[in-house]
Amino acid sequence: MTPLAIENRLRDELAEIAAAGLSRRRRLLASPCGRLATVDGRAMLNFASNDYLGLAGNPEIAQAMADGALRWGAGSGASHLVSGHLAPHEQIEKEIAAFVGFPRALTFSTGYLANLAIVPTLAGRGDAIFADKLNHASLIDAVQLAKAQGAASQRYPHNDMATLERQLAASSAANKIIVSDTVFSMDGDLAPLPQLFALAERYDAWLVLDDAHGFGVLGAQGRGSLSHCGLPTAPRILLMGTLGKAAGVGGAFVAGSDIAIEYLLQRARSYIFTTAAPPAIACALAQSLRIIEQGEARRANLFARIAQLRTGLNGLPWTLLPSPTAIQPLIIGPNDAALALAAALWENGLWVPAIRPPTVAKGTARLRISISAAHTTADIDRLIGALREQA
Ligand SMILES: *Cc1c(COP(=O)(O)O)cnc(C)c1O
Repeated sequence: MTPLAIENRLRDELAEIAAAGLSRRRRLLASPCGRLATVDGRAMLNFASNDYLGLAGNPEIAQAMADGALRWGAGSGASHLVSGHLAPHEQIEKEIAAFVGFPRALTFSTGYLANLAIVPTLAGRGDAIFADKLNHASLIDAVQLAKAQGAASQRYPHNDMATLERQLAASSAANKIIVSDTVFSMDGDLAPLPQLFALAERYDAWLVLDDAHGFGVLGAQGRGSLSHCGLPTAPRILLMGTLGKAAGVGGAFVAGSDIAIEYLLQRARSYIFTTAAPPAIACALAQSLRIIEQGEARRANLFARIAQLRTGLNGLPWTLLPSPTAIQPLIIGPNDAALALAAALWENGLWVPAIRPPTVAKGTARLRISISAAHTTADIDRLIGALREQA
């Protein structure tokens, strides 16, 4: 039998990926996501997940999901606009909107879909998008979709407000849309939200903010980056947040004005043409939201562990980026050095992922240390000790 030509091409490309040392492989967990995880048969201390509040394995949330499944069934049966919008979905939308302080919210099955809903729905022919260079891949793809519909787009250097302002001032687009992560996923730093908002006001632009790593962690009661920065929830802001990171469950929301959210409901293809998430997810999220709201002790522990790590890594030969969030990137530089360091930690029972190009810029391969409220003082000391030994 002759092999398929297309398969030959894929085989060649896979070989190239492998030869470049860029093959990815999945670690298999034989335990729930938590501070400790059984990975490939080994008990590992987990610094890899985005489970910042330690809620992914929370028994009350799991119980709410189980109860929700028994009460509402396993599936929603259809998209929200057909017949899949059940009472728990409606309820969680209202609770999330109230929690983040916007008039209205929509929920999505994933953050990726939520970002695909926002940008190409707001921006089409004659409109212009202004995007931070370090935005998450899902926002980059969302911009690509908008460009396919005729929107123009420009990227500005990371957090460079002067360049953004020049681009805005030079644009004669009908609609301007600024798109930024609030907390950057590989650097852990914050976007200058007050300046972004001021520019959005000055140039009458939408401000689309992806709070995947801020929601639940930053701000009063974990209300997110806007609260953290003392920004108002103005009609020109669309706030996206994911619910599979700090919230420990899955899915995402977009919050905004009544008009903006109604428009997404009517027009966003990644909202309309996909089955609504199982209602039990919404039930689990309601429980998660209650824990987040009352989670001051969790957040206090998280920020104490972050401070402990930052102090403990002082004076090492690598650069710890100035991140105030749960994402603590340690820049190693060369790919092989980052991989070797991750491997050495792994041998010590410490799971810290090495992040390489193209996910991050060339020459900035790094350990992405992810801190959780579930980590103990001893856990962080263990990580500091192991890194000091390798230095
Ligand atoms: C994780 C992430 C997303 C995607 O959210 P999912 O729910 O995982 O699809 C979007 N934006 C940012 C910044 C993220 O870190």
